[in-house]
Amino acid sequence: MSQIKTIGLLTSGGDAPGMNAAIRAVTRAAICNGLNVKAIFQGYKGLISGNIVEFKSQNVSNIIQQGGTILKTSNIIQQGGTILKTARCEEFKTEAGRKLAYETLVREEIDALVVIGGDGTLTGARIFASEYNYPIVGLPGTIDNDIYGTDSTIGYDTALNTILDSVDKIRDTASSHERLFFIEVMGRDAGFLALNGAIASGAEAAIIPEISTEVDQLEEFIKQGFRKSKNSSIVLVAESEITGGALHYAERVKNEYPEYDVRVVILGHVQRGGSPSAYDRILASRLGSASIDALLDGQRNVLVGIENDKVVLVPFSKAIKNDKPIDPELIKVLKSLSI
Ligand code: ATP
Repeated sequence: MSQIKTIGLLTSGGDAPGMNAAIRAVTRAAICNGLNVKAIFQGYKGLISGNIVEFKSQNVSNIIQQGGTILKTSNIIQQGGTILKTARCEEFKTEAGRKLAYETLVREEIDALVVIGGDGTLTGARIFASEYNYPIVGLPGTIDNDIYGTDSTIGYDTALNTILDSVDKIRDTASSHERLFFIEVMGRDAGFLALNGAIASGAEAAIIPEISTEVDQLEEFIKQGFRKSKNSSIVLVAESEITGGALHYAERVKNEYPEYDVRVVILGHVQRGGSPSAYDRILASRLGSASIDALLDGQRNVLVGIENDKVVLVPFSKAIKNDKPIDPELIKVLKSLSI
């Protein structure tokens, strides 16, 4: 018999479409199994300060289609009369902050936590769980798809589709003017959005951090003679200090190949918004539901992910430590189809 009567639920880090579908799934699956649900607002900050509301089934009505997260991930900081918002909670990185968080959980009689977020969120969860021997299950919620142990993260598919929508529009104008477009997409040091976005949009190349140090991707792309049979070209660049981003490559082309008419588009936060795709809603619903099964089954400190369309449990230690590799087959596909 599980000792868990009440679960706490929070979202943290950058928001991602599908987080609301996950909140709905966790809440309803918990209630369905006779558990109480306490929703923690503002991520780890809300856990420290006790920003908590008991959730019933109706609290999560009509949210499955909404982007963002109704629980917010932000930590509101006031500075000289100005309200600054940040999705980050530095205090949870300190022992003192985590002690306050633990005291909140004891006070609120929360027996286990489900956290939804990216790598940083899971790292915080892992540290907290081992310090206090506290049961936590994590759900991968980030558009970057950079979490090891799951084929996809909640929000990634929607962001990819948003990218395609923009690239298709840019392609219309690019081909009218014979231009070379560098389009910067998000990814936080991971090239999944850039590489799969390039394949799906028919772009000519992707510049991704995973191979930035091995090859000069710009040089390779120009040498390929991208203009031989085309009157415009689109290159997706993953935002990252490793690649230097789209502006860096545009600057290089201006200096090294001044004959090209270069333009830069930085897609930015539009990639985080929007109603989640069918795939993300189903993924969030499956993983959210499985997180409650896992807790009731006595599982602790695991990420609930998806592999080959099956739900899997991956220990936090593995999910956090390992880098998720880019499949070299995808690089080959992009190269061979963009001739
Ligand atoms: P995204 O990938 O969308 O940016 P994320 O979960 O990786 O999401 P972060 O800002 O890296 O986002 O982390 C979210 C929160 O997790 C941080 O604000 C902090 O409270 C907590 N966190 C991150 N790293 C640690 C750590 N080393 N120790 C304790 N807490 C951490």
